[in-house]
Amino acid sequence: MPSSDSGIVHIVGAGLAGLSGNHAALSFVKAIGSESQLQGPAVAEFPFVDLATRAQWTLRFSDGRIPWWVFDKDRRVPQTGAVDYLPLARLAWTAADRPIGLVMNCTGPIYERFMGPFLRAALNIAPRHGSSRLAGALVRETLARGGKACRPLLARDGIGNVFVEPAIRTLRERGVSILFQDELLGLHFAGRRISRAEFKSGTVTLARDDAVILAVPPYVAEGLLPGLRTPSQFRGIVNAHFRIETPDHLPPMLGVINGICEWIFAHPGRISVTISDAGRFFDMPREELAQTIWSEVAAIVGLLGILPPWQLVRERRATFAATPEQNAMRPIAETAWSNLVLAGDWTATGLPATLESAIRSGYRAADLVGHLLRAAA
Ligand SMILES: Cc1cc2nc3c(=O)[nH]c(=O)nc-3n(C[C@H](O)[C@H](O)[C@H](O)COP(=O)(O)OP(=O)(O)OC[C@H]3O[C@@H](n4cnc5c(N)ncnc54)[C@H](O)[C@@H]3O)c2cc1C
Repeated sequence: MPSSDSGIVHIVGAGLAGLSGNHAALSFVKAIGSESQLQGPAVAEFPFVDLATRAQWTLRFSDGRIPWWVFDKDRRVPQTGAVDYLPLARLAWTAADRPIGLVMNCTGPIYERFMGPFLRAALNIAPRHGSSRLAGALVRETLARGGKACRPLLARDGIGNVFVEPAIRTLRERGVSILFQDELLGLHFAGRRISRAEFKSGTVTLARDDAVILAVPPYVAEGLLPGLRTPSQFRGIVNAHFRIETPDHLPPMLGVINGICEWIFAHPGRISVTISDAGRFFDMPREELAQTIWSEVAAIVGLLGILPPWQLVRERRATFAATPEQNAMRPIAETAWSNLVLAGDWTATGLPATLESAIRSGYRAADLVGHLLRAAA
């Protein structure tokens, strides 16, 4: 989980932990007892504002698999007809992995007001360059399953408080010891096995029935494992957080079209903003960026432009670049070493780099280690 570059409060992620179709994330929070901290609207509703036209609308998915909502002009995107939604089916069942721009038209109201923002947020890349296979997986797992799979899951007190702290607590309760600030510096190999792991604090020698799950970022894993091929290009994310009482009329999650902000989240005492594929903002002075974002939020929400206490989280290598080429470079969890498996949102999960992907990779790694240990017994 990335950390902030400054701090009033320490919050990672603007608050969207995923959609209700993300079964691994949901089973994980159940297992660590933090399910009640994931909140969100009871139905799949996505209010939007378009800053170019000042138009406002709410996308309202119907619950079942049959997408009745596309036939209802009060539920679908303004200026679109039911037939405009057909490219979704093409994307869902695309065979080869190609840039999305070659599979569907990346212009027009359906793209600009719905598919574009949805894909950009999920893939963290300009959608036309994104992988059609990853986009297809998203469509199949969420949109194609209807509103029940599309409710936003919001982590009111920050993603760390839902996914990380309770996981640490659960592990400690089960006797697992967790060390922080102890960098893994190198791995030693003996034939097809990892024999030793060298940490900053010292060396750990692995017993016959010990196994390693290596869950570091791809650019670190590549340095630790000879010959490992990993994604090599990345995209940034900017999250901005403002400490302010949220006005009642601000919905929990608001999509912004033709603005700098892409999604605005209302939490008690805090407004958060997400900007995906945000490389263009990394060289801007922090205060200037915070003020720029706040001015837009204030204009949308109807607040004063005076900057409240703020925090910016900028992560240049937030996710691997979700292009077809980079997607093809994701390694599977199994490695050439019999007692080492990989985990991380960048491994070959079939999903873009999200919490859901990271958690699925963790489950897969745990299953594999279970097999390894049984085989060694
Ligand atoms: C700003 C930001 C906002 C995001 N918002 C969302 C969101 O709203 N929803 C969503 O689904 N996803 C979001 N993501 C993506 C999400 O955070 C990732 O998909 C997820 O954290 C990936 O988990 P991971 O375990 O694969 O990797 P990470 O969370 O990156 O964990 C890797 C860990 O390895 C540690 N490490 C690195 N080198 C070493 C070493 N040598 N030795 C030991 N440890 C090491 C790192 O410190 C880190 O803790 C966001 C990402 C960013 C950057």
